[in-house]
Amino acid sequence: MTKRAKGTYHLVSLGCAKNLVDSDSMAQLMNRQGLIPTASPGDAEFLIVNTCGFLTAAREEAIAVLTDLASEKLPWQKLIAAGCMPERHHQDIINSVPGLDGMLGTQRWMDILDVLQETRLNRQGLPYQHFPQSAVDARNEKGAHRAAVQGGSAYLKIADGCRRTCAYCLIPLIKGDLVSRPMEKIIEDAKALQGHGVKEIILIAQDTTDYGHDLGMRDGLTRLLETLLKSVPDVPWIRLMYTFPGYVSESLIQLMNSEPQILPYLDIPLQHADPNILKSMRRPSDIQSVRESLAQIRSLIEDVTLRTTLIVGYPGEDQQSFQKLLEFIQSVRFDHLGTFPYSFEPGTPAEPLGDPVPEHIKTERVEHIMQTQAEISLERNQRFIGRVLDVLVEGVDDENQISIGRSYRDAPEIDGLVLIEGLAPVGEMVPVRINSAITHDLVGTLIDHHLS
Ligand code: SF4
Repeated sequence: MTKRAKGTYHLVSLGCAKNLVDSDSMAQLMNRQGLIPTASPGDAEFLIVNTCGFLTAAREEAIAVLTDLASEKLPWQKLIAAGCMPERHHQDIINSVPGLDGMLGTQRWMDILDVLQETRLNRQGLPYQHFPQSAVDARNEKGAHRAAVQGGSAYLKIADGCRRTCAYCLIPLIKGDLVSRPMEKIIEDAKALQGHGVKEIILIAQDTTDYGHDLGMRDGLTRLLETLLKSVPDVPWIRLMYTFPGYVSESLIQLMNSEPQILPYLDIPLQHADPNILKSMRRPSDIQSVRESLAQIRSLIEDVTLRTTLIVGYPGEDQQSFQKLLEFIQSVRFDHLGTFPYSFEPGTPAEPLGDPVPEHIKTERVEHIMQTQAEISLERNQRFIGRVLDVLVEGVDDENQISIGRSYRDAPEIDGLVLIEGLAPVGEMVPVRINSAITHDLVGTLIDHHLS
């Protein structure tokens, strides 16, 4: 091993924003120990893949990435699988990835340094597996900020794990029960992000509306937001992700309506609209009260943007129940919507139902929903023509003299963009007059002296 490579690491982060925060926290612990990150895997002593594992497709991707790195791995390098996949599928990784040196689960991200040390010492030839029997102390964050900065915005984790029992979901089996972070730790991280100059803090958890339940708090998310507002007044945007239907409380709605710093944006994964399917999914199935709460949110929070996520092809979904789902999205008219084909996951409560809906039917239904949503999304976008929106600039295209950013209506990576004629400073918030709308995006011009 070259002197230069000793004590270096290459970290690949797969999956969701929550995994990104875990990757960032592991990097903080390694950097603090004097390890140096490298962009190219060939130069690193440690190759670490923070995997996603809650869907078959995600596990296949994790195996592909690990196998690629294993195939290029030099004798002095150590390949480590971290994250969600080792938590439940560690044997699959061992069977599929020759040359693996170590493994730790998502609930043990804070033990990354121990694992690196063990893989260095490990002469057994078998991968070192870090799955201690002792109960994990999920609140022992070893001083790491539980946030991941992405340009002008940052994900801030407020809790991990989940106490819900959705029939199709592996997450409670991977992440364990809900563990809310102490509020003072969250505030500390938020202040650090404010000091870092971020313009947007995105609160994430498996279910943000359940924040504080395990700490004996009632309406904990609203309490947390009230404290955040006082603690980080210089952060223009606070965005909520992953709320649970029926748990967006009155006081949360009131606070969102009275405090512009909390973006009028709600991501409420509903998953379906047929009560029988929802019952089978073990999700809130009173679709009439869901409709009413969405209508109430729209009437109480001015210009609120509503996003949801749907699963099609769940066992028992026939043409009739799919029609109900279609009618539901045509009548509610969400601003943003994501649709996924049901993924059969052994070990979930839904396993005994099998996977009766053919893949081609699932694909057709995903396409049908997204075609329907495309018209709705354009219609929702057209309401903003002629208006001025603040846009967080995230990139520029010098050649075409345009800038790209997001308004309050767009969460990163999953929603639309604002295309701005003219070059604007990346990482800054600029006012943009909206001139036109396309299916998922808006187009506009910079207002005033921001044009550089
Ligand atoms: S709320 Fe349901 S879908 Fe979401 S992580 Fe928890 S169990 Fe899974």
